[in-house]
Amino acid sequence: MSARECVIPVFVPHQGCPHRCVFCDQRRISGSRESATAETVRQAIEAAAALPPCGAKRQLAFYGGSFTAIPAKRQEELLAAAAEAIGRGALDAIRLSTRPDAIDGEVLERLRRFGVETVELGAQSMDDKVLRLSGRGHTAADVERAAAAIKAAGFRLVLQMMTGLPGDSDEKDMETARRLIDLRPDGARIYPTVIVRGTPLWELWKRGEYREHTVEDAVRVCAKLLPLFEEACVPVIRLGLNPTEELSGGEAAGGAYHPALGELVKSRVMLEKMRMLLAGTPQDSRVVLGAAERSLSQAIGQKKENLLALRREFGLRDAKVVPAAVEEGEILLLSVENGGEILYNNSVIS
Ligand code: SF4
Repeated sequence: MSARECVIPVFVPHQGCPHRCVFCDQRRISGSRESATAETVRQAIEAAAALPPCGAKRQLAFYGGSFTAIPAKRQEELLAAAAEAIGRGALDAIRLSTRPDAIDGEVLERLRRFGVETVELGAQSMDDKVLRLSGRGHTAADVERAAAAIKAAGFRLVLQMMTGLPGDSDEKDMETARRLIDLRPDGARIYPTVIVRGTPLWELWKRGEYREHTVEDAVRVCAKLLPLFEEACVPVIRLGLNPTEELSGGEAAGGAYHPALGELVKSRVMLEKMRMLLAGTPQDSRVVLGAAERSLSQAIGQKKENLLALRREFGLRDAKVVPAAVEEGEILLLSVENGGEILYNNSVIS
């Protein structure tokens, strides 16, 4: 999501969901237990209006359920409350999330009537076996069909995928990302699987029938996925579940829950770039790398873990990263000193 958007979330926990997907408990994930009403929508807009202006597009977002599978009359009540706020200038746009098998011409016509701008589709995986084991109740073909219909009707499309689901692998996650990119979304969200207490996945994990997707597993695979989306110019607007008191307080029993997962992944992407730049560097060298001021901490890594890894893997005497005039996310190899000889380099990896 660009910095020019501010989102007013209204949760519709599990409303419209035909069943529970094995990993999901929206009440624990979002911390929201009440189902939204038109009054909730009005109150959320009023509360946002009372805050200092965010200087950006104000979007009301219906999250946490399968919005377009909620009974039509109920959808219309919620959408009408938001549309009324757009009409009087208190809101700029409406977005919502839903399931691929809850999209058809009639649904899209309703969303258009109320001025919805963005539809977020929970694809989760493009592997039918993973979808089946995760209890999703739809196929990859449903994702393709729904995404095409949303684009053709002129909505902005955001696709959500998960990593580490039952039956999943890094290769399947990469293939899912490629197939989602082919659907030309305007944005993507990546949610590595978290084992939420009380869900069927938690039961499977306790019985040893599901192998936990750890934070390290998520960082490894997401560091491969992020460059795929970036190269295709698809902005990844969220990586990892939003931290909540419930999840941090123990509802996340295992899996890839980390309050700063996105930062960990970006830091790993930087490490991969530095590894490429340093290939062939003689042992015992002292190397100086450069990064944009805003990327310095990601390049160095938490507790300097990237620098320590480079020293260890390349047998370096020293490795440091200094501020340099490069783009955010780029890495520059400034110099390599070995046996008193200094090689100035200046190769950049973006
Ligand atoms: S993942 Fe989406 S469709 Fe599945 S139970 Fe949760 S909110 Fe409903």
